[in-house]
Order: sequence, then C-alpha cells, then structure tokens
Amino acid sequence: MVQQVEKVINDTLKGKLKEIFGYSQFRGDQEVIIQNILLGKNTFVIMPTGAGKSLCYQLPALVSEGLTIVISPLIALMKNQVDQLTAFGINAQFLNSTLTKAEMTRVKSDALDGSLKLLYIAPESLTKEDNLDFLKRVKISFVAIDEAHCISEWGHDFRPEYRRIYGIIENIGRLPIIALTATATPKVQQDIRKNLQMEEAETFKSSFNRKNLYYEIRPKKDVKKQLIRYIRNNKGKSGIVYCLSRKTVEEVAELLNVNDVRALPYHAGLDAGTRMSNQDAFLNEECDVIVATIAFGMGIDKPDVRFVIHYDVPKSLEGYYQETGRAGRDGLEGNCLMFYSYEDIQKLEKFNKDKTVTERDNARHLLNEMVAYSTLGVCRRRQLLSYFGEYFEKDCGYCDNCKKPTEKVKVQEDVILILKSVMLTEQRFDADHIADLLTATDNQYVKSYEHDQLEVYGKGLEINELREYWVSAIRQLVIFGYLEKDIENYGIVKLGEKGAKYLNDPYPVTLHKDHNFEEEEVKSEDDDKDSVNGNAHAYDEALLGMLKALRKKVAKEKNLPPYVIFQDPSMEEMATTYPTTQQEMAQINGVGMGKVQKFGRQFIELISRYVEENEIETAKDVVIKSTVNKSKIKIFIIQQVDRKVSLDEIAEVKDLALADVIEEVEHICYSGTKLNLDYYINQVIDRERQRDIYDYFMTAETDNISTALNEFDGEEVSEEELRLMRIKFLSELAN
Ligand code: ADP
Ligand code: MG
Ligand code: ZN
Repeated sequence: MVQQVEKVINDTLKGKLKEIFGYSQFRGDQEVIIQNILLGKNTFVIMPTGAGKSLCYQLPALVSEGLTIVISPLIALMKNQVDQLTAFGINAQFLNSTLTKAEMTRVKSDALDGSLKLLYIAPESLTKEDNLDFLKRVKISFVAIDEAHCISEWGHDFRPEYRRIYGIIENIGRLPIIALTATATPKVQQDIRKNLQMEEAETFKSSFNRKNLYYEIRPKKDVKKQLIRYIRNNKGKSGIVYCLSRKTVEEVAELLNVNDVRALPYHAGLDAGTRMSNQDAFLNEECDVIVATIAFGMGIDKPDVRFVIHYDVPKSLEGYYQETGRAGRDGLEGNCLMFYSYEDIQKLEKFNKDKTVTERDNARHLLNEMVAYSTLGVCRRRQLLSYFGEYFEKDCGYCDNCKKPTEKVKVQEDVILILKSVMLTEQRFDADHIADLLTATDNQYVKSYEHDQLEVYGKGLEINELREYWVSAIRQLVIFGYLEKDIENYGIVKLGEKGAKYLNDPYPVTLHKDHNFEEEEVKSEDDDKDSVNGNAHAYDEALLGMLKALRKKVAKEKNLPPYVIFQDPSMEEMATTYPTTQQEMAQINGVGMGKVQKFGRQFIELISRYVEENEIETAKDVVIKSTVNKSKIKIFIIQQVDRKVSLDEIAEVKDLALADVIEEVEHICYSGTKLNLDYYINQVIDRERQRDIYDYFMTAETDNISTALNEFDGEEVSEEELRLMRIKFLSELAN
C-alpha cells in the first residue's frame, strides 16, 4: 500500500518536474528529499552551490495544498528567485520592506485565497507583529529555511535573527521544516539541528564535488598580461575577478576596460546605487566581467558564470571554494583560476597583526591550508574534497595538477617512517612536529616529550634532509587517506584505517613534488586552452548566436536577466534539435509548458525561419532520439572534431580502430549532426583523389561502399577513404 502511494507520488513528481520546470530527470537526491518533506518530515539538505537546492522545496510547494514559506536572508536573492519562478508560470511573491502598500495587500489576498504557492520572506519581516497575525490565518504547507548556516555562529554568515525563526514557526503552528545550506562543517550542522529542534531530521548530504569546474593555479607573474589574455580567450563570457582590496578592484576594472573588456567594479566602498546597478548590468549581460571584493557574490544565482579568477590569494579555502562555486552552476563550463604568490600570503598575515591571539591563530591556520593547497602537486579536487571531509579515491583528470603533473616519486620507506612516528607519538601531534622529529629539528616540544629518545628521531635525514619535504609528504598522506585529521584538535593527524593496514603490508606510494612558483614559468597561450574548452560543442553556432541575441532583446523588454528566460543548456539544446512547434519546444530540458507559453513564440519563429532559410533537414525523431542517447564516445568525437583533432588520435586515445571511429562519425552524421572533417581529409587524402571520389558519389546510384569499391577497382582507393569522402559528401549535401 505504502509502496503504491509512493509510486503515485513519484510518477506525479516526475511529471510535474517536466511539466513545470521542463527537466526530465531529478538531480542527485532531489526526489527522495522531496518525498521526505511531502511526508511531513523535517528534512535537512546539505548540497554544494549550484546542485539544485531550490527545487527541493519549490516542487513540493507546488504539489502541496496551501502556501509554502521560504525564509531567505537577502532581499536581492528573493527577487531573483521570484523572477525565476514567475518565468515558469508559478505564483510566487516576496514579503519585505521594499513593497508598496498596494503590493503588500495583493500578496496577502493571494495568500488567503490560496492562489499564492510560495512566499519568500526575510527573518526580520517574519518577526513583525502584523505579518505574523496574517500568516496565522493562512493555510501553510511547510517552511523552507534557505542558507540555514546563517543560524550558526560557527558558520561564516551568522545572522542573529535566524536564531529566532524556530520560535516564530512554533507560534504559527506545528509545521514541517526543510533546512538547506551549502556550507556545513559538522559543528554548524549540529547547531542548525539543535536550534530548529529537529535533531531527528533526516540529513541529505551530497558530495561537494563540482565535476564541471576546472581548478588551476598559476604563478602571479606578469599577472596583468596573463589576466587580459585569459579574459580575451573567454571573450563574451561572463566572469568574476576577485581581488582583495577596493583599490585593486578599481585598478583591475580600469585595466580591463582599457583593454576592451566590458568590466565593472563592485565593492563595499561604492554607494548602494552604483553597486546595485553594476550587479544588474552583470546579471543582464550588459557587462561581461565583474571585478569585485568578496562583498560580491552571496545570493548571485547567475547560472552561466564561465570563469572565476582569484587575482589575489584568498584568506581561506572555505572562501575560495564558495567563490569558485559561483562558476558553471548550470553544469556547463566553469573555469577557476587563481594567481599565487607568497607575497600575497605575507600581506594577509600582516592584516592579522591587530587581532586577538585566538583570532590570529585561526587566521594563520586557514592561511596555511591555503598555502598547502596552492603548492601541493596533488590533484586539486582531491585536496579540496579532503579539506571538506570527503575522501576522493582517484585523481580527477580535470585540474591543472592532473593535466600537467609535477614530478612524481614512488616511496615506501618514507611512508612507513611517517606512519610509525605518528603512532609512536600517540597520534597527538601535527605535521610540523612529526617533520621536526624526523629531521631532528630543534623544537622544544620534541625534547620535552622526550621524542628525541624515539627510534625514528632524525631517521628522515637519511632519506631527505628537507623538513618541507616531510611536511608535504604528511599532508599528501592525509589526502590519500593513510592519515586522518583530528576533528576536535586542529592540525593533529591520526593513523587512519588505511594507514594501519599499510604498516602491516606496505607498498610503494606515489608522492608529488610541490610547486615552486618562484621558479615556474608564466603559462603560455596553450595553457589557456586547457581550461578554456569552450569550443567543445555539438550545436549550431550560428543559430545559438541568434537565439542568444533574441534572448537578450526579450530580457531587456521584460526587464529580466536573460537566463531567467532560458538557460544556456536549454539554448544549446535548441541549437541542436531545432524545435519548431510548441510541443517540440516543451521537450527541451529546462523548458516547461509555462515557459513555452510565456516566451516560446518568438524563439519558435526564429528557429523555424532559420531552418527554412538554411534548408535544414531536421529529421525530428532521429535528431531528438540521438541527443538523448548520444553516448559518451559520440560526444567525445564531436568535441574532438570541433577541435580538429585527427581521427587517428581519437582512435588511439579511445583505444579503438580507425574504422570504428569512422563508423561512429557516420552514425553522428546520419542522425543529423553536421561534422566538418575537411582538416583531416585534406591531411590523409590528396586533392585529386578527393575530387574523383566526390564526383563519383555525385553521380552514383547508391552510396553503398562495396559498390564504390568495385567501381574504383584497381585504383588503390581504400575503404576508409571512400567512407570519409562519403561522410563529407553527405554532410555537405544532406545535413
Ligand atoms: P543551489 O541553491 O543549490 O545553489 P539552485 O537551486 O540555484 O542551486 O540550482 C542551480 C541550477 O541547477 C539552476 O540553474 C537550476 O535551474 C538547475 N537545476 C536544478 N535542478 C535541476 C534538474 N533536476 N535538472 C536540471 N537542472 C536543474
Ligand atoms: Mg540556493
Ligand atoms: Zn585533478
């Protein structure tokens, strides 16, 4: 019975997801989270930025009877969310001090008559007496608390009013709560549960890995030149450049403008009006790049930020991860570049001079983690996830350290020495202490604990005299899971389960040499291309350009950010499948019926005209099917061909025969995607022969290959050449 009910719920949810939001699939835990809250249970959601938390309360709000209250800390954030929901055809409003009396009355009457589904409200407004009285008269389904980490003093955005939320909710009535956040150390999680009196609530924590983000760190040399070149290589894309000081923000914004980049500054020193209008210009794509201090960002839900650059080294990895997290929220390209110099670290240390002892200690720890992250040669993603308490087994293959590794060494004795030292010192010391011990470095604690009596004392010197070598090795062993960090005591390393096993049965472990940014060369233009992988696509570029221009125009008319109309992934899909009717348009991921009706017409007209003018044979069912099933290998081939990689190379990388790759290419072309193989064909078939084969296909009765082989009998034309030319022929004439 319960199962049956669940099945009904699930079918409806999936249907609603498509119908309203236009998505065909739930992401990660979204579905179970939604079921949980629909069953009236308190729910706690921890997901990284961009993972899709909003949907976890928006969809259940729509299928529940009554109004859902969404508590959110920032007015700017509310407006943005309400705009996006309205674009989907949903009745959502916000209640805050910026509303006129008339607007306020309208919100209240919509709420009372049941037509309003979501009401966004800041905690300050929630505590107001008359708002409270009114909410008591409304039927409420559940309460969503967004950015729930604001409840905790241990988080990084503590908001005292957030601590009063629970009392107020109780006052309104017993309501299920869903709390959501992207930052959650175990300490903050505990605080949230306690404060909201939902210790029993089920927690849904998803991995913090952001697969589409490319992490990269470069030496901070010739930084202005590097910056300009990088942004030029990303021309027309949205990006954020973070700087530490207001002065640098102004300078860099100016520098970019002089170099023809549409950039605007943002920092707390600007008056509120300028800040607001610069932020809007960024959201509305009137400027491409925002140069900002960390004052910019919270609540900026722009999904198509393509790069985040740290011009200066940030103060903590927490900050770095949040800021880089603003890139590629829509799951498409997101490049995170940081410029590193030790001078920046020294500058940051100076800032801490006037702090209290504990504050200074904390700040120094955070900064040390930042230095380690920057200089270690280990996969960036493994480092970041390890920092946030997640173990990631393999190198990711998609960060600078994976793409261009520093020197690697296989060691075994070194690992044994370190693990032994940790054990012999009873797992109560940090990496520095262990390194001192191994290198017999003068350190009062080593002596006072009589660690100079241990058998491992000074033993490291026989392998490597450098203390830094050992510190780095210890850090790497933490990332690889041999050692574990003690949660209660900062910096202390303990033997992990894997480490204990290792001591019984050791084997060689690969360690990476640290970066030496002082000596590293400034990266070349080619290095830019590693991260700037923007030309990896299978869509019709000309059409996409037109669609984007139209989106911008419509957005301007409606006074909305362009991504509220349609997001980039949806536009790319349109430029691949050419929808020319409302039904086809509604098939596009991210486009529900609401959006089709609100914005569809002009886009459908544009695509129809384009298809007609360019005589595009859309072969609807084939194309749509092929995009859904486009297997990984096909996408890979399309991307590589776009980058003009030779088919031989593709075959080699994918461990396929050339004939297999050609066969895949044939499938791709037959299902309607245009591929230009000229670069390769010109390389492997001489012009004259190309002409002969091409002419043959022009006049032949059939494009059958064996017939062609017979026809060219004796002329040493290979089957592969024929098939390549047939692809060229078909792409040019049929597609
Ligand atoms: P968060 O609040 O977790 O930072 P958002 O709720 O703002 O993230 O969502 C980030 C992006 O993911 C949005 O652009 C949203 O449209 C998209 N998204 C959410 N759920 C889905 C889904 N099931 N399928 C496709 N895209 C989704
Ligand atoms: Mg959010
Ligand atoms: Zn990596």
